[in-house]
Formats: sequence, C-alpha cells, structure tokens
Amino acid sequence: MNKNEFLPTTKEEMKKRGWEELDVVLISGDAYIDSPFMGIAVVGRILESIGLRVGVIGQPDINSDVDVKRLGEPKLFWGVSGGSIDSMVSNYTATKKFRNSDDYTPGGKNNKRPDRATLVYTNLIRRYFKNTVPIVLGGIEASLRRLSHYDYWSNKLRKPILFDTKADYMIYGMGEQAIIDLGNTLRDGGDPKNIRGVCYISKEPVLEYLQIPSHEECLSNKEKYIDLFKVFYDNNDPVYSKGLCQKVDSRYLIQNPPSDYLEEKEMDKIASFPYQRDVHPYHKKDGKVKCLETIKFSIMTHHGCWGECNFCAIAVHQGRTIRTRSEENIIQEAKDFTKMKDFKGIISDVGGPTANMYGYECKKKLKKGTCVDNYRCVDDKRLCKAMKVDHSRNIQLLKDIREVPGVKKAFVASGVRYDLITADKKHGYNYLKQMVNHHISGQMKVAPEHTDDEVLYHMGKPGKQTLIDFKKMYDKLNKESGKKQFLTYYLIAAHPGCKEKHMHELKQFTTHELKMNPEQAQVFTPTPGTYSAVMYYTEMDPFTKKKIFVEKDTRRKEKQKSIVIDKKYQQRRKSNGASLQS
Ligand code: SF4
Repeated sequence: MNKNEFLPTTKEEMKKRGWEELDVVLISGDAYIDSPFMGIAVVGRILESIGLRVGVIGQPDINSDVDVKRLGEPKLFWGVSGGSIDSMVSNYTATKKFRNSDDYTPGGKNNKRPDRATLVYTNLIRRYFKNTVPIVLGGIEASLRRLSHYDYWSNKLRKPILFDTKADYMIYGMGEQAIIDLGNTLRDGGDPKNIRGVCYISKEPVLEYLQIPSHEECLSNKEKYIDLFKVFYDNNDPVYSKGLCQKVDSRYLIQNPPSDYLEEKEMDKIASFPYQRDVHPYHKKDGKVKCLETIKFSIMTHHGCWGECNFCAIAVHQGRTIRTRSEENIIQEAKDFTKMKDFKGIISDVGGPTANMYGYECKKKLKKGTCVDNYRCVDDKRLCKAMKVDHSRNIQLLKDIREVPGVKKAFVASGVRYDLITADKKHGYNYLKQMVNHHISGQMKVAPEHTDDEVLYHMGKPGKQTLIDFKKMYDKLNKESGKKQFLTYYLIAAHPGCKEKHMHELKQFTTHELKMNPEQAQVFTPTPGTYSAVMYYTEMDPFTKKKIFVEKDTRRKEKQKSIVIDKKYQQRRKSNGASLQS
C-alpha cells in the first residue's frame, strides 16, 4: 500500500502502479472520495489490504461506455454501490420534489446520480460487458432493499433488489468481513454462497434457513409483510441470527447469517488505512464536493446504535451492538491530522451514529446477542436496567483529543442522546459540562423529533420528561460557564400515528416548555429497512397489528409541518424565494 496514493481511477494511474488489469472495479453513485466515512473507499482499501488490485469509478456516465470501460474488465468481480445514501432519498425530498443539490457530487449540482443507482449501474455493466465476472452489490441502498420492501417513491412493495437488478451477489450491512471473505473466495476459485453476510438468488430453497413469507404473500396480505419485517429485523445480530429464505416468483432470495462484528483491533486497522481524505483529482475539475467540509477532519469512534428509533435504518445496517475503536488509535488519528497541511486545528466531529454510546455496552448483549421481540435497550418508556450507561471513557477520550498539540477545537457534531446523559447519574453531568465548555459552538442539536406520547411511542423515542430534565441541566451549565448557547431541535411532522392535533401539542410544548419557535421541521420520509416505513405502508402498528392513522396527503403533511415552525421564519424564507424543502 502506498501511503500517498488514491486507488486508481484511470488506466494511466493503473500503469503507474505497474498494473495491466484490475482484480476488482468498484462503481459508486458518489464521487470517489478517499475517506474512512465513504463506504466505497473503505471497501477499496480493505480489498487492497488483502493484495487485490482495485480501481474506483465514481458517478459514471450512464449513457455511454466511456466511464464503465475506463478501467477495463476486472478479473474477479465488479462491486456496485448506489453511494452513501439511498439514491431515491438523495434525489427527492419527503414530498417527492427533486433535490437540486447533492453534497457528494463535485460542484454540488444534483446531476450525476441516477434514480435507483444500484440498478442502473448494474445494467450499465451488463450492457457493455457480456458474460462478465460476478457483479456484487453493496452499500446502503442495496442492503436495506435486500428482501421485499416498501418503496415510497413508487408507492409499492418491491421485490428484493437482486431480483430487480441483474447482479449475482449482495453484501449486506457494513460488510467489512464479508468483503474480505468474498475477495479471498473469488481469488481462490471458491463459492461465495457460503459466505456470511451475503445474499444471492437460488432455484432451490435452503431448508435449514428460516422460511419467511413469500413476496406474493406479502403483496396480498399486509400482515404477512409485517411478519417478514419482524424476522428480518430480529436476524441481524451475528451472535445468534439465522439465514433467511424468501420465495420470489419461482426462485428464492437467500440471505446468509450476518458477518461477525469487527473486534477493536480490526476496527483500528480499517480506520488506519492510508486514506487520502480528499476527493480524487479526477473529479476536482468539476468543483468542490460539499461533504468533504464535514468529513475531511472528522473522527468516527464506533459503529452501531441501540437507540432503535423506528424511522432509522441503522439497526439493520450497522447493527445494535457498539463496536469501538481503541482510544490510542483515535488519538493517533487526531495527531495525524495535525501533520496535514490544510488542517487548521479544528476537528469537525468526534462521534458515531450516536456520539455518546462510545465506550460501554450491555454485557449480556456482548455474550448472547441483542434481545429480540421488540424488547429494546431503550424505548419511549424506559432504559433497560442491564444497560449501564457510562460516559467516563468518552469524557477521557475527548479530553485526550483536546490535549493533542495542534488541535484547537474538537467538535461533537454527531447526534447525542440526551436521555442517556440524564440516565448516567455518575458521569452524565460531567459529560455535558465538557460538551458545553469545549465541544459545541453556540448551539447543541438534539433530536426529540416530537413530544407527544402517542407519537413518541410510534417513533420509538424517549418521553418528554427526559428532554425537560436535560434542558434544565444544559441551561444550568451554560449559566455557570457564562455562555449563551442554545439548544436546537430536530422535529418530524407526519410520522405514522401523527395527526394535526399532535403537531399543535408539539407547538404548545416548544412555546411554553422549551420557550422557542422552531425554525425547521422535517416531513417524515418512509425509508426502506425501517419499522416506520412498515407502519406507513401497512397503516398498522407492527407490534400489535392494530390500525393506526397515517397521513398520506402531501398538502396535509406540509400543513402538519407548518403548524410547528416559526411563521416569521417561513415568511422570510418565502420572500427570499426559497422553497421550504421538506
Ligand atoms: S438486556 Fe437490555 S440492554 Fe441488554 S441487549 Fe437486552 S434490551 Fe438491550
């Protein structure tokens, strides 16, 4: 591995490495950004580390062979990803308006990512390379669409993505171990069907796997779709999960059990690959890539989240067990930043899916796997007693990062669960004190999403009392330190179960309890792989199968949102000609 090189994206770069051909070509819906925050870069570096020759094509032209043929045909396999975000989420707002901007495209214009990018890129390969080596799907778009799933944008239940595309295999979840196994297996001429973390299509069922409702059954009976989703959701922990087998037409989608989670030293190793932390020069001529501003000097401390908000897909993509990097490795990354010439001393983020889940886990979960049957580590009513929330390692880590010579400021911009701060009687106060004094700038963003109990139940978010308690603690700490810092709140309108009356109640709460006028709220998007999308499609509570109200009319969704946001702010935005993006 050369410390100063991107993976090649042109034949010239291949030649410089002395390569006539590649083992693997990776294609992505994002520009090629070599960063530990970009899945395709991580996969490329992992494959490189096992000795394979890998090239990357970011955002290929889909109307010609110019890009797809740029690196030639790989010897072992093609890897295809829609990019860091599902292409339909990336291209459309919650009310299905086209988004004009794209943070992962050079120049910022949303003109390079096709709808259903995974499918389009697979077809592109098939068009120009007949009888080629296997095409392997990966990334969040494919992963969350691995079984029958509700697709909001076509408003229908779609088949598993392998049936929609003409790909051969899929790696689901984070896929680090599965990609190593796949690379080695294909190099050695083995059969990828035995690899954990892989999906494929079979003519025969795998009888020892769990037989889940067929696509046809799900289409004709929404309760069957709920049954399917529950088994899907509960079989993501490598400690105990079984393989799944779903009949689709006359064939079967086979989902092997998930890959093992990475150990701390493996997390450290992957974080330490020689990422260039920049966009590849091939894309630079087309302008800046906005996401670099946030990821370039950010540090990911862990993977996984056990928060289980029902509208979030992290549980089924990253898993519900926290896997941490070591403190030494994280601090080394901060030290490495200080040697980079464009580092100004500011670390944009030290975090993960939920920043304050670093450094502790439920002991039972680590041994036996996460609980199932909707018995959660945390929900709208309680925190499981077995989860001993402990911010002490996180506090020390942040302190150590602050003390790295050359680091002026290290922000925590990732989401923070305020209910965990109030639950940690020993260290929660001290953690928040550090945040207030050192790791936020002017404001702290928190995500209650709503404050009405009924809606919070459907969202799987904590009750409002914890928010009240947290705000008191936050205000007190700001007063003590003489700072005038605010809280800003992420709020969601039109989540399943939410009616206009609930938005009025939320407005009352923000005005009288939080003493603020929200400037923003998001209209709910039913994204694949989430319980909330199941609620949206079935109009049922998936845990009781009782009917629930779901707002499906776009104008009324917008109305829900407008109930809660500051009228003056809306007026200002309108007079500035901005549309209120949902
Ligand atoms: S015992 Fe409690 S904290 Fe542990 S995995 Fe189960 S629900 Fe989560």
